[in-house]
Amino acid sequence: MALRLFNTLSRSVQEFVPLDPAGRKVGLYCCGPTVYDFAHIGNWRTFVFADLVRRVLEFNGYEVRHVMNITDVDDKIIRRVRETGRAHREFTAQYEEAFFADLKTLNCRAPHLTPRATEHIEDIIALIARLLERGLAYTAPDGSVYFSIEKYRGCGCRYGQLVNLNFDALRVGERVRSDEYEKEAVADFALWKARVPEDGPVFWPSPWGPGRPGWHIECSAMSMKLLGPSFDLHLGGEDLIFPHHEDEIAQSEGAGMQTAGQRFVKYWLHGAHLLVENKKMSKSLGNFFTLRDLLDKGFAGREIRHLLLTAHYRETFNFTLEGLRAARAALQRIDECLGKLRERAGGLKGAEDSAVLEAFAGAINDDLNVSRAWSVVFEWVRELNRQLAENRLDAAGAAAALATWDRLDTVLGVGAPAEIEVPAEINALLAARQEARKARDFKRADALRDELKAKGWIIEDTPKGARVKRL
Ligand code: AMP
Ligand code: ZN
Repeated sequence: MALRLFNTLSRSVQEFVPLDPAGRKVGLYCCGPTVYDFAHIGNWRTFVFADLVRRVLEFNGYEVRHVMNITDVDDKIIRRVRETGRAHREFTAQYEEAFFADLKTLNCRAPHLTPRATEHIEDIIALIARLLERGLAYTAPDGSVYFSIEKYRGCGCRYGQLVNLNFDALRVGERVRSDEYEKEAVADFALWKARVPEDGPVFWPSPWGPGRPGWHIECSAMSMKLLGPSFDLHLGGEDLIFPHHEDEIAQSEGAGMQTAGQRFVKYWLHGAHLLVENKKMSKSLGNFFTLRDLLDKGFAGREIRHLLLTAHYRETFNFTLEGLRAARAALQRIDECLGKLRERAGGLKGAEDSAVLEAFAGAINDDLNVSRAWSVVFEWVRELNRQLAENRLDAAGAAAALATWDRLDTVLGVGAPAEIEVPAEINALLAARQEARKARDFKRADALRDELKAKGWIIEDTPKGARVKRL
């Protein structure tokens, strides 16, 4: 089944056809983190969604070039730099590092390019200069540069492609300096913000005087530089639809670098929010968990990833610790089945089961229907367990199932074998317990078993020796 995706631009599910005439290469841009704090798992829902899009494209045989920017200058960062008194770069570096570490913990494929805004100031300035030249931007008395919505619309361009806007409320020339604003405020937005005393040392020279770029122009400049003026997919959380993505379209198409008939972006994809008690998980509401908070509670990256991938990306989804425990139990069912399959296959290699892969592709290619894809997986696991229990699966069958799982997991990304996930400390306790048993010190062996249990692991004695699994 061909890949179909919901395009916010057309407000419909469309077949994915890449711009590449050869139908092979795909350009993918996802708005990255603002590195002023640790990302919370609401943010991670969006980044895991972007990873899913990337993996599904690769599953379908496309060669993806994945770009994700790092917003390392904006209103929030400047405020925090001022409050903490730290050097700008040093301040953002710690959160950038944490972000990449978390990306790995969640088993997201690393984007091919992760440009920082502060390293593309020249490109940003060049794009602003082009908008000025084309009469779509103007300088304000303080040296800031604004995008003129009136001029843009006057050229026959449409402002309000991703959302419907009420232009009766537009007061010509009214300006917003802030990076984030409400729909009601359809107003000229800042491309370049003239330096103010509160910016401290965070500024760059420009033809319009010292200052710094606005948030929206950063993404237009970097995405077009690294993927070309027209590319296939642009992703982000739903809160970015307006104003961020609408403004990106206005700037990028206003600069007029696309060939005739081409858009800046062909498919816009937006992920719905992660909620807590039916409210958006966010820093400002204080109702958030960082990934680290959940790791500290003993959850593994793959369990969190699984939870974030249980609901369809266009549905809001309520986060609970209960849900995470259910994710753990679900993965255990897969792990146990894989463990038995490995024993049965005994190292034999097999070919993939095309019927299972087809059913899975049918679900995931249908606008990333993950819940249907998971039900294909779990029904298949149930059937394999039945065959194993009834001794109806030979080594070749088990090997084929393992090959199939490896392929499914190129999309799901949860399949770190359970053995690898066992912490060294737990393995050491297991080894000590085996030693104690060998020495017939059953009292000590039992105490070690209890200690493991207290840490959340139970021992299973199998014909191939003892191993641990999560409680
Ligand atoms: P930020 O670092 O604030 O720029 O946000 C990074 C990404 O997280 C953006 O794509 C946001 O749309 C997304 N995001 C923010 N809050 C949530 C949430 N509660 N659920 C899902 N995505 C979110
Ligand atoms: Zn962006």
